[in-house]
Amino acid sequence: MKTIIIGGGLTGLAAAYKLLKNGISDVTILEKDLEPGGMAASYHIGDYHIEKYYHHIFESDTELISLMTDMGLEKDLQWLKGTTGYHIDGKIYPMNTPLELLRSPLSILDLMRLARIVLAIKRKKDVSGLDDVTAKEWILDNAGNSVYERFFEPLLRSKFGNNHDMVSAAWLFGRIRIRSNRSASGERLGYLRGGFYQFIKRLTDSIIEMGGEVRTACEVSEIVLADGAVCGVHVGGGEYRKSDRDCDSDRNCDCDVVISTVPPHALSGLVRTEAGAGEGAGSGFQGMPEIPYQGTACALFGMDKPLLNNTYWLNIKSDVPFGAVVEHTNFLPVADYGEHLVYVTAYLQDADDPRWRCTEQEVIDSYLSGLERLFPDFSKSNVRWWRIARHIDTAPVYMTGYARNIPPYSTDIAGLYLAGMFSDANYPERSMNGSILAGFGCAEEIMGNHGLLRDSGSC
Ligand SMILES: Cc1cc2nc3c(=O)[nH]c(=O)nc-3n(C[C@H](O)[C@H](O)[C@H](O)COP(=O)(O)OP(=O)(O)OC[C@H]3O[C@@H](n4cnc5c(N)ncnc54)[C@H](O)[C@@H]3O)c2cc1C
Repeated sequence: MKTIIIGGGLTGLAAAYKLLKNGISDVTILEKDLEPGGMAASYHIGDYHIEKYYHHIFESDTELISLMTDMGLEKDLQWLKGTTGYHIDGKIYPMNTPLELLRSPLSILDLMRLARIVLAIKRKKDVSGLDDVTAKEWILDNAGNSVYERFFEPLLRSKFGNNHDMVSAAWLFGRIRIRSNRSASGERLGYLRGGFYQFIKRLTDSIIEMGGEVRTACEVSEIVLADGAVCGVHVGGGEYRKSDRDCDSDRNCDCDVVISTVPPHALSGLVRTEAGAGEGAGSGFQGMPEIPYQGTACALFGMDKPLLNNTYWLNIKSDVPFGAVVEHTNFLPVADYGEHLVYVTAYLQDADDPRWRCTEQEVIDSYLSGLERLFPDFSKSNVRWWRIARHIDTAPVYMTGYARNIPPYSTDIAGLYLAGMFSDANYPERSMNGSILAGFGCAEEIMGNHGLLRDSGSC
């Protein structure tokens, strides 16, 4: 059985690893970028690596931690203090310890309401019913207007923009459960010293060592079907097939397996039946659920001086074109990099957003002006270099009813599977851990179906 995996992000890498570990030897990953890693990929700056988008992990990310351990990286995984704060009306409010919370703009009564709902969320076991209730409705019902307006609404707006009042309470529960696991001195977050780059590199190397192939700069433009089953994919102008046999002249060729890790709407555009690319007539793709996505415009600045006073993660509730400032070197020691590293980031709700349409330089200029407005001590002259990562599909939007729309790994096209950020393993919040689980889960399903696929599709 020849398996082609579209996308060398963590889902694709995990699926390949699982298949190869289980003796399925003919596995190829096709990745359109120059390097594997997807959303978790890194920049190479001087002699270090740093993620294009800020990343940290949680103790509950057990599958990811176990795979890092398999890669011999357990000694590099460190649990460090991840301080958070709010920027409101020109002032930074740290939000880590009970004492700091008491000094926040929330009243004592609101703090008590907040503590009560955090406790209720942590205790509630079954979140299934919460998929149909918005986070806003649930907070208003359980904590009242002022907790919503002063605490949650800015957070929801910075994460989901205009969709903030459509996001489900299930997402809120998932988020709070992960983030409220903290001691009196604050939250501990995990990071791989040297960067998650190391993990992606070792995972890729071990796939190649086991006989798998990882081809980069290979954009799949079409998935070719014959008689309702997968038989190959086109890469750019050429065609990449499972064997030397020509599927076009022999419709009864072996079944290929294709695992797509791209968003469902992008997959629909790749499927080509005899009727033509993307039409999907008779392929079952008509029924592919609509999963809404949002994008990210995330700048990284290398700086001479620190920006924030000891805060790692600062949520911004001010009129600037970004929703958070993440000072990586207030989380990791600055000595690891020899300079200060600061992410400035915004979520994008649609493709008309100027932060998606404008040039990189224009976005950077708007972010720098915003930093000058927020932080009187900040000077552009302290910025040594910048990079910007922009992508329009960086996260599903977990609106109400999302759980009902989650696509299973199998499709009704023989040999075509899908797994990724949109899969059940990533609900109600996508993560590296969720993508590892999705890749593993999909590979296991394929292995379970393996005998069937061979019997039905052999030449
Ligand atoms: C801003 C931001 C911050 C994040 N922070 C964290 C965090 O702190 N902790 C955490 O655990 N997770 C975090 N994540 C989430 C995490 O990075 C992702 O959930 C995970 O990396 C997704 O992996 P994936 O393989 O499912 O998808 P992707 O990484 O999107 O992989 C899909 C791959 O498919 C490739 N591709 C697309 N189309 C084609 C094509 N036609 N042909 C070939 N290849 C194609 C893409 O280039 C990509 O490499 C963050 C993500 C973002 C965007």
